[in-house]
Amino acid sequence: MVKKIWVLKAGELDLDRSILFVGRGCGIKERVPITMVLLETDQGFVLVDTGMNPNGLRDPEGTWGPRAKDLIPLITEEDDVRNRLEKLNLHPYDISHVINTHMHWDHTGGNQFFTKSKIYVQRTEYRYAMYPDPFYAASYMKNHYAHDLDYVFIDGDSEILDGIYLLSTPGHTAGHQSVFVTMENGAKIIIAGDAAYTWESVEKIIPPGNCYDMGRSVLSLQKLKTLQKLTGSDLMPSHEPNHEFYHKILHSFNQSLNLQVI
Ligand SMILES: [Zn+2]
Repeated sequence: MVKKIWVLKAGELDLDRSILFVGRGCGIKERVPITMVLLETDQGFVLVDTGMNPNGLRDPEGTWGPRAKDLIPLITEEDDVRNRLEKLNLHPYDISHVINTHMHWDHTGGNQFFTKSKIYVQRTEYRYAMYPDPFYAASYMKNHYAHDLDYVFIDGDSEILDGIYLLSTPGHTAGHQSVFVTMENGAKIIIAGDAAYTWESVEKIIPPGNCYDMGRSVLSLQKLKTLQKLTGSDLMPSHEPNHEFYHKILHSFNQSLNLQVI
């Protein structure tokens, strides 16, 4: 069972508000967090997403390609997943399981360090990430994930460890997945990943501006909203603008979640 949750800061991105909400807020800039989530369980440590590729600190163009010029990530040495884990006296080798919600560049940058972990990803997502359509190719960087790693390919919904469930939530990408977590004391949280960029996305069912399939994204938002209501869970979106994000998860979430931000 899950005993404790850490939200690990992985840097920030500046983007146009219309990326968060399709067709709305064009020309308005937003600064949003990038996050990873660490779950301590009695079967080992589980990391959800691996953040930005720290090689970009020294070689942005070689790491991120031309994208580094249009969308500049704001990261520091501290945001390197290895440094966040070190604060908890952990090394990537201590992480038994990694979950990639999807293979976009801001969620897989640290995959290369988890050579001893099982890495869970939807089969559809991995296939797509290897051969993306041209319109979506800039969000996928094979140098982030095409390494000799122990990928475990999942098809649809699945329980992978006691209290940790993968939920198929496609739309933002071809094979996106979210993570439903039940803690040993009964508290529950949905880690939505990019299926829900913000709380408003779920409340009003507004898909992101960058989607593989907008219709499926709407269905996935409805699935998350329904599940949240049925189970009385908290829900953590991936890229809520910074002015609300950390404040809300620390002050509005069910206190029995035993959650800390580092
Ligand atoms: Zn994404």
